[in-house]
Amino acid sequence: MIVVRARSAGFCWGVERAIDIARDFANKGRRPVYTDGPLIHNSQMMDKLQAEGIREVGDFQSSADLNLDTNKDENAVLVVRAHGISPERRKYLKSIDIDFKDATCPDVGSVAGKIRLHAKKGYTTVIFGDKKHPEVIGLMGYTEGNGHPIQTIEDIDALPELGDKVVMVSQTTMFTHDFEELSEHLRKKYPETVVFDTICGATKDRQGDIAVLFNEKVEAFVVIGGNHSANTCKLALLARKTNLPTFHIETAKEIDPVEMSRFRKVGVTAGASTPEFLINEVCDQLAVIDHDPA
Ligand code: SF4
Repeated sequence: MIVVRARSAGFCWGVERAIDIARDFANKGRRPVYTDGPLIHNSQMMDKLQAEGIREVGDFQSSADLNLDTNKDENAVLVVRAHGISPERRKYLKSIDIDFKDATCPDVGSVAGKIRLHAKKGYTTVIFGDKKHPEVIGLMGYTEGNGHPIQTIEDIDALPELGDKVVMVSQTTMFTHDFEELSEHLRKKYPETVVFDTICGATKDRQGDIAVLFNEKVEAFVVIGGNHSANTCKLALLARKTNLPTFHIETAKEIDPVEMSRFRKVGVTAGASTPEFLINEVCDQLAVIDHDPA
């Protein structure tokens, strides 16, 4: 089988940076590292990091108190994830007796900065994103209590009166065409809305590469990444929109050789939190499957 790997498959720079920061403490500085929730949404990589002394002590949404009651090491450092946190969470982390290092992705930091700047000038913030996702929870903290997460046209129609100062941003991992459609709809109601397309470059590259693989005439897509990884699930959704068979898998163990032998050429991509070793395993395993059109 011919395997075509997307150029952008795998870690984005923000995730890579957060992992490097944690590893620098754990491996070079030899300090136990705690993370406020899973450092990345990939259980295989989390297992690997745990073996290196990097341990998750917070909850998925970075909202509950840290679980530091047992085995707390005085030399430990807490790393804030690439998703970022709200100002309230930062205050809480500063209030407990532990060193912490902020590994928020600068792209997320830039969104937070735009929200904060406008909120201080009295703007209402509309965030295109999943209100339960830690990134959106963190960003909401910068709206000065005047923010609304939305995901659909119906969500926009259900908003209360927003006044004449409205700013719209996006969670960094959303679809560009959805953001355009929703911001256009919001502008019909509030023509002066200040719109920032804050979908990050890494997300746009991954989404664009689905079209690149499609144009290379692949016959199916394999999308690798955690079932809880928002950007991986979105990549799989986008791949399915091409009407080609799409397989979202977490590891090479989920490959069905008989099923995959139907295809001569397969496109492989992976979410921003999928480690290289998992992508290589999948590509290697697919490459040895013989095409059997029967
Ligand atoms: S997906 Fe984008 S915003 Fe999120 S960590 Fe990666 S580079 Fe940063």
